[in-house]
Amino acid sequence: MIETMDDAASMVLQAQEHLDMARYTPAMELAVRAETLAGTPAVRAHALAVISACHHRLDRYAQSIEVGLQAVRLWHELGDLAGESSARSTIARVLILTGDLTESLDEGLIALELADLSGELRPRLLALTAIGIVHLCLRQHELSIEYCERAAETARLLGDVAVHGSLIDTISCVFMGQAYAAREEGNEEAALSYGRLAADRAREAMEIGRQCGHRYYQVNALGNLAEGLAFIGRPAEALELMDTIQIDPELDSVSMVTHLLDTRGCVHLALKNYDQAARLFAEALELSAGNNTAMYYCEHLSEAHEKNGDFRAALEYHKRFHTLFTLVASEAAQRSASIAAIRLETSRAQDYAMRERARAEELYHSNLELTRHAESLLQQSLEDPLTGLANRRLLDRLLETEGQRYSIALLDVDHFKRVNDSYSHQIGDQVLRQLGALLLQSSRPADHAARYGGEEFALLLSDQGDEPDEAVAERLRELIEAFDWTPIAPGLRVTVSIGIAAHHEAGSATALLEIADRRLYEAKNGGRNRVVGPESPSPSTAPGFTASN
Ligand code: GH3
Ligand code: MG
Ligand code: MG
Repeated sequence: MIETMDDAASMVLQAQEHLDMARYTPAMELAVRAETLAGTPAVRAHALAVISACHHRLDRYAQSIEVGLQAVRLWHELGDLAGESSARSTIARVLILTGDLTESLDEGLIALELADLSGELRPRLLALTAIGIVHLCLRQHELSIEYCERAAETARLLGDVAVHGSLIDTISCVFMGQAYAAREEGNEEAALSYGRLAADRAREAMEIGRQCGHRYYQVNALGNLAEGLAFIGRPAEALELMDTIQIDPELDSVSMVTHLLDTRGCVHLALKNYDQAARLFAEALELSAGNNTAMYYCEHLSEAHEKNGDFRAALEYHKRFHTLFTLVASEAAQRSASIAAIRLETSRAQDYAMRERARAEELYHSNLELTRHAESLLQQSLEDPLTGLANRRLLDRLLETEGQRYSIALLDVDHFKRVNDSYSHQIGDQVLRQLGALLLQSSRPADHAARYGGEEFALLLSDQGDEPDEAVAERLRELIEAFDWTPIAPGLRVTVSIGIAAHHEAGSATALLEIADRRLYEAKNGGRNRVVGPESPSPSTAPGFTASN
């Protein structure tokens, strides 16, 4: 089957589903395929965001940040606040794992701001979670609880039970952090009480993870529960619990596997099984993907050997721990610098993109202006500037395209030359303008009024109306005659003569105009201020109205 761009869009949605269920390998495969096929920047950005999140979960931190920044840039260019926020939250999460806590907090706070601007709950949830976890790592427990609880509330609003459970697990970790801090301060009572809170929350989280079929959350919470139980002096129970799950390198990420080995080691340490503990810590150290985790396993190994009375081994691991500690610190500094560089580049690229966008917008607007100008030119070329009526050109077009549907009434101002002469050309113009208005006012929606030239007008009378053409024209003639022209000039009176050709009288517009013109001439000859149409009696017997002059 050939994969298309539409497939890319649905592929990325499937990838997101796998990601949500912590199935990182299939999520990654689909997202990578979607990214290469992506037909739109939005699909591509989404694919990149999923890839970044998968790298994060699969402990490939540098790749996660690199791809994540690409996603951030694309979302930013698209003006998609929610997308940009989510991608930044992933970066914030990775920066926690690489120990760049201040950078992580920065990213998390930007992500939260963007999420709030977007008004969407999902990115808000991700940002609050990231910030909650950074505070946990910074040992700012109160703040951590606050953010985690806000995140949990957001998950609840979203109806996302699994994520709600994972946040309860995180809150359990915060209590655990408080428990360790209390023990360090020698406050054993507080330590135990925090430890119990931690164990309760972890158990709740584990149960939710199990009910949702979310292995990652379930296993993670289980590890935390075991840790809590060991801490509060129930290591046997913890060990029993840990035996209920089988580590599966196919399903569990390296960091999950090493974390579980380490937890199991801690439980054995609490049970005073120092050999066993040391073996588990060593296994975790062997598998560990990064110096950051390796450092902790060395510390635990040193402790296990020390308790076992093997001080040489203890010192050995302590030295390794110290080396790794220095390494991790300098790595973190280097990474921070390179991340800052990537970010700088990203922001430069963003500036460039913004300038490009502004230019494109400018082009668009000037294009729009040109189009409008062209439209107005066209309009002008079809419109009589004095009266605003259709001009001769538009009239000809109308007659050409749908002439068969109309009768024509040609209207000429009586003795107009005298108006100009007696008053002025300007007054003459005002009369023409007013006549245009009266024509518009008296014509029916389907009719068209046009200035035919000079002081002549044409009315295209639609064959849709039930009123005879002559009656319409007569009404117009009367309207003009009865109109009070004195506001334009004292003593001014205006009348018109009208000749009509009915649409059935001729086959062509030209022939029709000729007939109308001939009848107009007849109306003039008949004494002016009158209508001559096909139904009119002969001019000699027509009821004449004498013009004012
Ligand atoms: P008739 O009753 O026989 O039509 O007499 P008339 O004076 O209206 O006829 P004629 O064709 O001799 O004169 C038309 C005049 O209309 C001549 C011209 O000065 C005037 N006219 C044409 N266009 C305009 C215009 O745009 N503004 C003004 N003020 N006068 C115009
Ligand atoms: Mg004339
Ligand atoms: Mg005239």
